[in-house]
Amino acid sequence: MQNSSIVIQRVNGRSYEITVTRKNVKRMTLRIDRQGKPCLSVPLNAARGEIEDFLRSCSGWLAKNAGQRSFFSLPDALREGDEVMILGENRRISLVSGYKASLSFREGRPVLAMRDPGDPVKAASAYEKALRDLALDVFRRRLAVYADVIPRRFGTPEVRVRKMTSRWGSANQKTGEIHLSLYLIKAPLECIDSVVLHEAVHFTHMDHGDGFYYMLLGRMPDYRQRSRKLREYARH
Ligand SMILES: [Zn+2]
Repeated sequence: MQNSSIVIQRVNGRSYEITVTRKNVKRMTLRIDRQGKPCLSVPLNAARGEIEDFLRSCSGWLAKNAGQRSFFSLPDALREGDEVMILGENRRISLVSGYKASLSFREGRPVLAMRDPGDPVKAASAYEKALRDLALDVFRRRLAVYADVIPRRFGTPEVRVRKMTSRWGSANQKTGEIHLSLYLIKAPLECIDSVVLHEAVHFTHMDHGDGFYYMLLGRMPDYRQRSRKLREYARH
């Protein structure tokens, strides 16, 4: 069992919530997790004063590295004109009244329709719901483009969207499903395509052997450049 607690560190008037975990380690280490949240590992017997001193010594680093919105997160609150990342671009969102959460685009600008657009927290959850629908629609269309690599006996795989942070996608020959990360919809279409094709090829080659890459690169010769671009985006 790990023993975690939360400490609040104030730097230049801003508060940072830090998850402190006691572990069998020799020294304290501060890092930012994939959701953009600061996490501190400390030795099992570290005293409270030592932890506070260490965090004070890291305050410059903390202010620089935490709070930058991670690629693997969505807004907790959303207001008219806030920037959101969709399909590789930061775009200013419009919030309008509608009976059901849905995203559309007007001259490249995302428009979120929802019941109560004045409530930033409700707007954030409506955004997540609508983004998931958009992601599912885009991923299905892109899979249709590359469906020729999937053996006929599998038919059209079912696409499922999950808030995955440790990988972009997975394919399951047994269930006939492809799971894709919701956060992938933040990446440019050419990067989305590289993941979709990668998973589609797994219906023929389950491992990442020569056969897998022969088929993948045959269909998408610039696959590696696209993967590199995706990794760069995800570092934002
Ligand atoms: Zn793979």
